[in-house]
Amino acid sequence: MGKATGFMEYEREESAAIKPKERIKNFDEFHTPLSLEKQRTQAARCMDCGVPFCQAGMMIKGMASGCPLNNLIPEWNDLLYNGNWQQAYNRLHKTSNFPEFTSRVCPALCEKACTCGLNGEAVCTKENEKAIIEKAYEEGWAAPKPPKVRTDKRIAVVGSGPSGLAVADQLNRRGHLVTVYERSDRVGGLLRYGIPNMKLEKHVIDRKIEVMKAEGVTFITDANIGENVKAKKLLEEYDSVVLACGASNPRDIKAPGRDANGIYFAVDFLKSTTKSLLDSGLTDGKYISAKGKNVIVIGGGDTGNDCVGTSIRHGCKSIMQLEMMPKPPVDRLPNNPWPQWPK
Ligand code: SF4
Ligand code: SF4
Repeated sequence: MGKATGFMEYEREESAAIKPKERIKNFDEFHTPLSLEKQRTQAARCMDCGVPFCQAGMMIKGMASGCPLNNLIPEWNDLLYNGNWQQAYNRLHKTSNFPEFTSRVCPALCEKACTCGLNGEAVCTKENEKAIIEKAYEEGWAAPKPPKVRTDKRIAVVGSGPSGLAVADQLNRRGHLVTVYERSDRVGGLLRYGIPNMKLEKHVIDRKIEVMKAEGVTFITDANIGENVKAKKLLEEYDSVVLACGASNPRDIKAPGRDANGIYFAVDFLKSTTKSLLDSGLTDGKYISAKGKNVIVIGGGDTGNDCVGTSIRHGCKSIMQLEMMPKPPVDRLPNNPWPQWPK
């Protein structure tokens, strides 16, 4: 385990966030990581629970609780505490293809289910994960490792979002020849264009794509299957085809005035900003701008919040966010106990 008495000795400490008035001046990530030593201290708080709810990834009362990837959290927390970073990376990579993405954008189900959170503060598992994967890149442990044997089976993966990339990574490791088709101009799907840059800087995706390319995965962009690439061609040229097209169809609402000007779907709004940011640093003017506008965002989930953060960075005049659910409580209610996902 981490340190037997660590959870009693050390307080939870998180990375520092740049102040809101500063962070809205750009689309950069805004957390400054703890020092490696401090991160190890945070790992020391892990109790190596007999039943590690953090990694359970199970459904409780219809809601996911614990890490859906079943990451071996107590193991790599212990390795991190003991300074065995490389082995911590090996254990992390065993269950997760992309810790560099999850450690930035996952809602940290592990922490909501952490036993330390029952009577105190949960272990900083998400930031421990980020420290491990960033150290792995720094040290070269996350460098390309092409498969030693090829099966010569050819597989097409349609879609380069997180599921398409994970499928491609797994199949390539098994020695199959994988080609990923992406309809957009850049690889990544919603990672690229759905999640704004301040939550996931896009060079993090590029870094992993370069590793995957060096390991033998081929990526073809601007390839919309059924439009400019025939589905028949894939069936003829590949032994198998995996559909990982995602769920990018927006949910519309039928309300009077829906056809008015100035109403956009979130993904179109967010994509236009990120594309312009990547193409030109937002100088090409080819994005839906909220500058000087009074903005209403309908939806209080992650995507709605991304639209709020993006509108504020554009320089909107005012912003209001509408959510159909009641305001969530500050603390858990008695009918929503640990280790359930807090409503
Ligand atoms: S932050 Fe990492 S360990 Fe925690 S639930 Fe997400 S993927 Fe799993
Ligand atoms: S539940 Fe928390 S304290 Fe227990 S093993 Fe998981 S991270 Fe460590």
